[in-house]
Formats: sequence, C-alpha cells, structure tokens
Amino acid sequence: MTRKLGSGKLVIATHNAGKLKEISALLAPYGMECISAGALGLPEPAETGTTFIENALIKAHAAAKASQLPALADDSGLSVAGLGGKPGVYTADWAERQWFEGEPGRDWYMAMGKVEGMLQAFGPQADRNCWFSCVLAIAWPDGTSAVYEGRVDGHYIWPPRGERGFGYDPVFVPKGQKRSFAEIDPEEKHRISHRADAFAKLVAEQFSG
Ligand code: IMP
Repeated sequence: MTRKLGSGKLVIATHNAGKLKEISALLAPYGMECISAGALGLPEPAETGTTFIENALIKAHAAAKASQLPALADDSGLSVAGLGGKPGVYTADWAERQWFEGEPGRDWYMAMGKVEGMLQAFGPQADRNCWFSCVLAIAWPDGTSAVYEGRVDGHYIWPPRGERGFGYDPVFVPKGQKRSFAEIDPEEKHRISHRADAFAKLVAEQFSG
C-alpha cells in the first residue's frame, strides 16, 4: 500500500518561486503546510537521471534527507515523437545560452527553433506529435517514495504562436484544439496540462478517503 502524507509540513523541492506558489495553492485545501527547499537553504542536487522519474526522485529524496521532512519534487519536459522523444529530460538544457559569456540564461525561442530545425531536416513527413510530461515524486526521510506521472498530448507547430504561458507553450497545440498553450486562457491550460494530470493522480491517492 502506498504511504500517505496526512497533514503537516511538506518541503517543496524547488528553488523556483512560481512553482512553489502554484504547488502550495494546489495543496492548501488538504491541510499541507508547504515550505520551499530554498527557504530552508537546502542545496540543489545535480539532475543526473535519464528519465523524468529518476530526476524527480533525486530531488525529492535529497530534500527529504536534508530536512528530515516529507518532500515533493517535480520534473517535466517536452518529448517530440519525430525526434525519438527529444528533448525530454533535457528540455530546459536545450534553452541554455552557452555562448554569451557572462550572460547566463535561457533562450526559449532558440530552443523551439532547434526542435523545429531537426524536424525540418526529416522533411514534410516528420512526425510532429509530441507530449508534455510531468512527474511528481514524494519522498519520506526513511527513504520511501511515491511517484505520479501526468501527460498531455498534442502536436508541434511552427512558427510559435501566442504570448501567454512560458517555455515551449507557443509551439504546443493540445490534441483536439486549434490554439497553442500560449494562446489559450491560463486557467484552461491548468485544467488540461500534464501538471494537472499528475496532481489529480497525487490528490486521488494521497488525500482520498
Ligand atoms: P523542469 O521541470 O524545471 O526541469 O523544466 C523542464 C522544462 O520543460 C521547463 O523549463 C520548460 O521549458 C518545459 N516545460 C515544462 N512544462 C511546460 C509547460 O507547461 N509549458 C511549456 N514548457 C514547459
């Protein structure tokens, strides 16, 4: 049987203020008091896994061990069928600007263009089906863990469309829709996204009954 969180303190293993806010709001109705790994001064472990699950577990276990509290981590990214699932766990890395000395940061337009360039190299029949994945991992200080996987399917468009959202939203059109994730209302995106899917599974198992 899967271990349950109950209520109480939960470390959110992210140093990203936006993610902390979103996750805290989602868990507030279940009596969880969320604390960020950043606020506790916990170090960020290297994401050395080759799958979303491995990376989410690395982050959750590191935070649980260091804080001696249960911890929740997420890992997410975009996988493109025609590129054999790339960029996958390296989604954020593909946006890394390596050549501007002294100007660290991420360039999402460059990353989206890299994916498009690789698809175009396969010609018009390139498989543009793609999906966003989100894995949520909970780890307890004694080393036990639980994992929840979410996914949303769609296709890769070019040129990018829309001003909302973040990351690869402008090139992702969810299945059955005409507008990209960057064109639709954020509330609608949050209802159908890979994160919503993973959270629904977590809530169903952790906070039901
Ligand atoms: P991480 O989960 O923080 O490692 O980041 C994975 C990367 O995947 C992010 O930096 C985004 O570029 C991309 N990504 C994950 N979820 C979304 C989404 O909902 N929209 C657009 N891009 C996303």
